[in-house]
Amino acid sequence: MLHSALSLSKNSLTTLCYDYAVWDDLVEYVHNPTDEFVQSNMPDNAFEAANIDAVLLTDLNNQLVWEYQHESLLNSRQSLINLITQGSTGLVNILPSSAEIALQKVSSRSGYLVLDGQLIYYSNTTILPSTATGEIVGSLTMIRLLDKALVNDISRYSLVSFSITPAFKTSNEIDDFFSLKLIDSISPSHSWLISNAFDNQAVQVTLKHKKTSLPQLDWIAVISLVLAAILIISLSMMMLSRWLISPLIRFNQSINDSSSDGLMSKITSHHLIDEIESMSYSFNQLLLKFNAQQNYLETLTVQDALTGITNRRGLETFAKDIMLRWHTEQKGFSTMMIDIDHFKAFNDQYGHLAGDNALVAVATSLAEQVAGYDALVARFGGEEFCIIFAESDSGTILKIAENICKAIEQLHIPNKVGNRHWVTVSIGGVVVNTLVADAAKYHFSDVLQQADEQLYLAKLAGRNTVKLQLFAPIKNH
Ligand code: GH3
Ligand code: MG
Ligand code: MG
Repeated sequence: MLHSALSLSKNSLTTLCYDYAVWDDLVEYVHNPTDEFVQSNMPDNAFEAANIDAVLLTDLNNQLVWEYQHESLLNSRQSLINLITQGSTGLVNILPSSAEIALQKVSSRSGYLVLDGQLIYYSNTTILPSTATGEIVGSLTMIRLLDKALVNDISRYSLVSFSITPAFKTSNEIDDFFSLKLIDSISPSHSWLISNAFDNQAVQVTLKHKKTSLPQLDWIAVISLVLAAILIISLSMMMLSRWLISPLIRFNQSINDSSSDGLMSKITSHHLIDEIESMSYSFNQLLLKFNAQQNYLETLTVQDALTGITNRRGLETFAKDIMLRWHTEQKGFSTMMIDIDHFKAFNDQYGHLAGDNALVAVATSLAEQVAGYDALVARFGGEEFCIIFAESDSGTILKIAENICKAIEQLHIPNKVGNRHWVTVSIGGVVVNTLVADAAKYHFSDVLQQADEQLYLAKLAGRNTVKLQLFAPIKNH
């Protein structure tokens, strides 16, 4: 690249020098120098624009006829003139030799020189008419300084930095730049000498790699890179799974579980991704609403709509538990059937709405009466109620039943039937104690039937009264 750069700079200079030197007008000027010719044909700015640093016009006696120096070479003016003169008489011919002059044809010389530690390229052409033959009147030398611009450009556009520094010719220690064919060794920097043929001056051309060491990409590095990539990908997948996929699977599982067994459960784990966290929050909120509605619906199914106490369905559930307790733990219980007396007549007299209110009042009073006991009051149907007690002492049950009768009468809900004044109830009760043999073979319906029989007896006995019996084992059951 450096060779090419130097060649480019030299070719253009040689062409320019030829164009000026083989020119009728310049021949005329050497014979008869005028300022006018210089001003119109050889102004300083024209040379400056062409990047020419010095021009020397000499006659056949090697005397200067006209000269130009760019400011970069002003300090070296005398050295330059000496160099041209010495070159002509010394080992290197810069100016045309007498043999060349004798031919009366155009001749050129060019080459590199070192001037005060700087590298210059010169081109010299005989001055003669534009036919390129004729009387030679002198020669024109153009000089180009291979200056910082070239150094900077090579440094800017390549991976090497390039410097030209003054040096002295020394024997064979550093290769000659122009004899270089190939760079066949890898090294962070290379140096060559460009030296004068006729004195001791030289410049040292140095190239330095901007990257002093190239990356070593051997197979160990390649495998390490691949392993690192696999590790990074695996870690990313794990993170993705931990933060995103697993929570979504758990989320989906929770929804599936909830919808399959009907028991909805909250999503409790905390998620690192906000969107999943807020999704599970919303799901949990929804769940709370569902559960509240479900509880409400379940309550409705075991609650009597009119009186608010347990309905027949709730009674049966409770009865199941109490029967199981009797069968497995031998714990006794009691049951009462309670029927409002002459309730048809009440409805007939006071209307159905008043009947409903009376039912509510009776139900409320029954609940109050058993509040202190382990018992359940239920509306059995119509104007009939049923109470199950986890108590099997006949005396206690009888007392409670009688208190219930009194309490209802004392509600003083008017119901004029015959010589009666108030709403009253009749109660049939059964006490189931632990003495019954083969308890497991009886159902709650057997207990209810006996309670019903007692209720019938209470009605027969004139109503507003209690009939109670111990559960009677049923033969051939
Ligand atoms: P007894 O003393 O023999 O029990 O006579 P009773 O009139 O109470 O018995 P019956 O079975 O002949 O009549 C029961 C009445 O209870 C019939 C019905 O009008 C009334 N009844 C049943 N359920 C309701 C209800 O939900 N609201 C009202 N207002 N009346 C009801
Ligand atoms: Mg009835
Ligand atoms: Mg009745």
